[in-house]
Amino acid sequence: MNPDQIHPVIHVLDQSTVNQIAAGEVVERPSSVVKELVENAIDAGARSVRIDLFAAEGKITSIRIVDDGCGMSPRDAALAFVPHATSKITGIEDLDTIRTLGFRGEALASIAAVSRVTLITKPRASGLIAGTKIIIAGGKTEDQGEIGAPEGTSILVEDLFFNTPARKKFLKSINTELAQVHTIMEGVCFSHPECSFRLFYNSHEQMMTDRSTRPLDTIARLYGADTVKHLIPVEVEFPFMAVTGYISQPSLSRKDTARMLVIINGRFISSAVINNAVRAGYGTLLAKDRSPVAFLSLRIDTGLVDVNVHPTKKLVRLSREKEIAEAVRKSVADALLSKDLIPAAGISVQAAVTPPAVPVPLSPSAYTYPVIEPAPSGVSESTHTGTTDSDRRLRQTELVTGIAAVHSTLPAIEVIGEFGGIYILGRTETDELVIIDQHAAHERILYEQVLLRLKGEHHSQELIWPVILHRTPRERAILRDLLPALAAEGFVLEEFGGDTFIVRAIPVVLGRMEDAGIIDEIISDLVHDASAATVNNRERITRVIACRGAIKAGTVCTREQCQRIVDQLRLTQNPYTCPHGRPTVIRFSRPDLDAMFKRT
Ligand code: ADP
Ligand code: MG
Repeated sequence: MNPDQIHPVIHVLDQSTVNQIAAGEVVERPSSVVKELVENAIDAGARSVRIDLFAAEGKITSIRIVDDGCGMSPRDAALAFVPHATSKITGIEDLDTIRTLGFRGEALASIAAVSRVTLITKPRASGLIAGTKIIIAGGKTEDQGEIGAPEGTSILVEDLFFNTPARKKFLKSINTELAQVHTIMEGVCFSHPECSFRLFYNSHEQMMTDRSTRPLDTIARLYGADTVKHLIPVEVEFPFMAVTGYISQPSLSRKDTARMLVIINGRFISSAVINNAVRAGYGTLLAKDRSPVAFLSLRIDTGLVDVNVHPTKKLVRLSREKEIAEAVRKSVADALLSKDLIPAAGISVQAAVTPPAVPVPLSPSAYTYPVIEPAPSGVSESTHTGTTDSDRRLRQTELVTGIAAVHSTLPAIEVIGEFGGIYILGRTETDELVIIDQHAAHERILYEQVLLRLKGEHHSQELIWPVILHRTPRERAILRDLLPALAAEGFVLEEFGGDTFIVRAIPVVLGRMEDAGIIDEIISDLVHDASAATVNNRERITRVIACRGAIKAGTVCTREQCQRIVDQLRLTQNPYTCPHGRPTVIRFSRPDLDAMFKRT
């Protein structure tokens, strides 16, 4: 056959398809639009930027960003939407000294490829009477002309992803999108205090910062004056870089890194390397699973920072990464040492930067079995230490008795001891040795009890003192989404104005937990839960209630209490794992043990 007769299968894509594909990298979701447009406003030298989000029927319908920056001439305004058109660099060598946030010339082209954009702009101090208006939808110019306009730029983005249905389908709930926008705006506000930002949602103000030269003003605006009180300044110069900003006293630590904000050369980035270096600076002052609060700005020779590694520029590549990380670690460690936190934390000066060489000896009380009177039924005094608290927690669980199965797949177990307040040792009726994870077992029991609770049953208890929770705008947005699900499980929470929520009632299974700190942690767990995307709200809330309500590892229980846990575990549907899937019981049969001791 003549090769030319074979039907061709390869062709070059038309420009509009190319743009839509490219847009996918830059414009992932509404918050990416906000990020790109706000960065353009900052690059344009704006002193104030207003962001408006409009939503209807659970979807963000439009986004508008208005700035008082340098504006654009009619010619530039038209060029701005052409892919790879930029005023910020002329060649690749300019990246070594880049001072602007943008440089790829992709954002406007990408956004216009997947939405309908209305641009109104007029250059600053140009003497022009009229500004320029351009409307572009799906990459095609629909209208272009003159219009009366103030100096600066306004961009309205509507019908986002109207021509990319696959992307549209994956948009998350409005509150998730809002939370994303808030995360981005927190970084933007902190990295650009020279500009004032106002964020509105359906015309209601959500967040606002003033122009300021003091980063602490911005931090206080974003996270509240309380946070500022616990911060320690950092200011260190190195030959090739400088570190400035604030870190928290160890007492202000968190379970997540949501409040570790790092700026490199004015660019808000996310860097595991820098986050780890900050944590390393705390040494043993912080538990392994905690993160500090930190607001750090690094000035690094621009030649050492490659900003062109990610389409949304959220990541950067650092040459001499090790030295930079070490500089950050040292800055943090020195700042902490200068603060004399040591007596409060009970740690030696050395230990603040290097882990102690000898392990901490076990406290002798870990091996005693205090005997207590059986607690009276009904309500016991609120206390958070010792066996009374354990008893209180266990008694909550006993509500389940009588509801659950009478047959258990788990053999009867006689408790023969406990180890370290973590493990219960037992002997089964089939003569095996079992080790039970006390916390995991109790978690399983509580979890099934919460699930079993019938609808309409009284399962919420009012707090004597309502607890006030302070939340960032981002957390508020997520929490609002969760309110109905929380109410269904017995948490009565209301928005209380400003940045606060008020907790009026909590589930009965949590017992008399009047401690604001614990309630705060429960809500934080939910707001920052990494499983949010994969597990439904009810399930997540149930797990958190079970986890926080359960007896903590390290709490030494009496033998009687251990026995109660084991007996209740036998009544559960799935006694073998905790709600997170970790095992609750491990068994050692006689043959197993004999083999280990080579008795066979
Ligand atoms: P980049 O920011 O990478 O240059 P963009 O597509 O975001 O690419 O913007 C293209 C160009 O449009 C910018 O280089 C800038 O000259 C101009 N521009 C965009 N937004 C604004 C704005 N808000 N004010 C003034 N000029 C702007
Ligand atoms: Mg840009």
